[in-house]
Amino acid sequence: MNPADIVDYAKSLDCVHCGLCLRTCPTYQVSGRESSSPRGRIHLMRAIAEGDASVDIHLLDELDYCLVCRNCESACPSGVEYSHLLAHTKDALSDHGARSWFQRTALRLGLRHVLTSRLLISLNASLLRILQRTGVFRLLGRHLGPVGRSMKTFPEVPAAEERRELQPLYKARGKRRGTVAILEGCVMPALLGRVNRATVRVLQEAGRDVHVPRSPTCCGALQAHNGDLDTARDLARQTIAAHESLQDEGRTLAPIVVNSAGCSAQMKEYGQLLADDPEWKQRAEAFSSRVRDFSEYLAEEALAELSPQLNAAEVDLPMPLTFDDPCHLCHGQGVRTQPRILLDQLNVERVEIDESESCCGSAGLYSALRPDDSREILGPRLAALEKSGARTLVTANPGCHLQWQTGVNTAELEVQVLHIAEVLDRALQKTDEA
Ligand code: SF4
Ligand code: SF4
Repeated sequence: MNPADIVDYAKSLDCVHCGLCLRTCPTYQVSGRESSSPRGRIHLMRAIAEGDASVDIHLLDELDYCLVCRNCESACPSGVEYSHLLAHTKDALSDHGARSWFQRTALRLGLRHVLTSRLLISLNASLLRILQRTGVFRLLGRHLGPVGRSMKTFPEVPAAEERRELQPLYKARGKRRGTVAILEGCVMPALLGRVNRATVRVLQEAGRDVHVPRSPTCCGALQAHNGDLDTARDLARQTIAAHESLQDEGRTLAPIVVNSAGCSAQMKEYGQLLADDPEWKQRAEAFSSRVRDFSEYLAEEALAELSPQLNAAEVDLPMPLTFDDPCHLCHGQGVRTQPRILLDQLNVERVEIDESESCCGSAGLYSALRPDDSREILGPRLAALEKSGARTLVTANPGCHLQWQTGVNTAELEVQVLHIAEVLDRALQKTDEA
């Protein structure tokens, strides 16, 4: 393969090797290896483009070891677009023969066929629940090494009632103040359907009609991060088409409010993903400009409506509470203050957790594909959580939610893990009852 096809060489030249990103990189902190740092990986990619290195299993492993957490991008003074560099190279090398046929086929099937099918996700969730409820899961967990250890502490798949799909439309409660669309997502309905319902209720309380367009199951983030940009582009086109016609009464296009930070980050970058597609470039840019993360939208567009109710709420949660920043919210979108502004409307004690912008090790499919590395990354984060004394951990991303829940279960910490939509929803329900 031509080195020019493997590496986005022009982007790699932005790195000036200053090393300011090293301290922020979880895989460098754990391994201590330069090759497992952002600077090291960029150096490896550049060496391939310059013909000084060849692609082998060690290089592929270093690329896969990266969490794509983008912490290095926040630290980089030169504006290196590390995640785009990595996505380009992983895509170009996804079929490389250094990986086993089984590995390549299983990943491709998962990315192209399982994660894009509502039916297969739902069947898998049902099967997982049966295995969990009958104890088979726990039994298998004892015999499957690292994967098994994760299986044993994986949060319980909810009952079918919680996994039911959302309706196409939910009307605003009280005075109607606007229209939004939301994304149902792939993992969220199957494992955290209650978060989607809480999201809808909070938006209704803020006076929004909530539309749930029938978009594809996945926004394409998992595919883009795991070396399948073609499928990511297909899913982006389908998602854009599903949301494109939804207008508010003033004939303006409705905002698209997304409760999964990984998805909102990806959807805000559709313009870049489809930049080389003349038919879709402008449509993608217009779509991306409408995407808002859930916390971002509420704090910036609906605080006045929600604030009186949130201020008056008596929140029944173990205290203190902390917000842990999902990587794709803080590093991917620069959204940091908005969730804290929302939580501070409540009458609660909030503490900060050390290194809250450092990755928890979930990283999309990473925790499933590299369970041992994922657990090692989570270790210091669990220690920081314990040190903070927080009894409720609030997050804004399904992967982080499940990772923290698994970690808290394993470490037997008395900490409740909730999505920010659930916290706000509980508070609003309390004030409604009052
Ligand atoms: S994305 Fe995260 S894990 Fe990957 S190099 Fe950057 S800081 Fe390290
Ligand atoms: S901070 Fe940026 S420029 Fe400096 S080594 Fe890291 S990626 Fe390169």
